Amino acid sequence: MAVRSDRYKEIIQELSPNNVTLIAVSKTKPVEDIQSLLALDHLDFGENYVQELIDKQQQIIDNIHWHFIGHLQSNKVKQIIPFVHLIHSIDSLKLLQEVNKQAQKINRIVDCLLQVHIAQEETKFGLNETELNEIINASSSLKHVRIKGLMGMATFTDNTEQVRSEYKYLKQLYDKLKALPQCHSFDTLSMGMSGDYKIAVEEGSTMVRIGSLIFGERNYMVS
Ligand SMILES: *Cc1c(COP(=O)(O)O)cnc(C)c1O
Repeated sequence: MAVRSDRYKEIIQELSPNNVTLIAVSKTKPVEDIQSLLALDHLDFGENYVQELIDKQQQIIDNIHWHFIGHLQSNKVKQIIPFVHLIHSIDSLKLLQEVNKQAQKINRIVDCLLQVHIAQEETKFGLNETELNEIINASSSLKHVRIKGLMGMATFTDNTEQVRSEYKYLKQLYDKLKALPQCHSFDTLSMGMSGDYKIAVEEGSTMVRIGSLIFGERNYMVS
């Protein structure tokens, strides 16, 4: 399926007055789709699976900013550390420590977001407020990671007021933390996907992660 470049351009137009960065979520989509967007000078791409990300990264030489947005297992961290631009999905101190350790080995400082659990679904990963504070306090001794902000996924529902209140909560949390000295690097609030990015932007998102609106529906059966 071809990339919907008209849709892409509309979204870019829509986001630019608010200074919101678009991450094109290319998971399960072929390298050709990424190249179609690269041809439009788009550089930020999001992937969920380590092996898929590595396969794609090896096939495309361009200077892409690869965002890791899926659940990350500690034993796979090492593989993405040399090139990853931003990890959106830090959901435990153990994971952050592993990122720090692997980054230290190659003398990199890796930018990370802390994933906050804001949805009602049990299945979505993320930290609660207590865990968030613990990890932020512990992070000051980790010199090879830089915490740039928060990421969250709202409940998958048609109830827009529910989604809005979850994003509102995340924005409040972000503002509260940003005021702390430990959070001086905060400049990124990653919230909003194809179905709810307009609400997320209204509620103060600085980065949206959009897949299906740009690349078409994903078919997990063939990927
Ligand atoms: C797949 C995914 C997206 C994009 O989803 P769409 O609904 O296709 O825009 C965004 N964020 C995360 C964490 C994802 O896993």
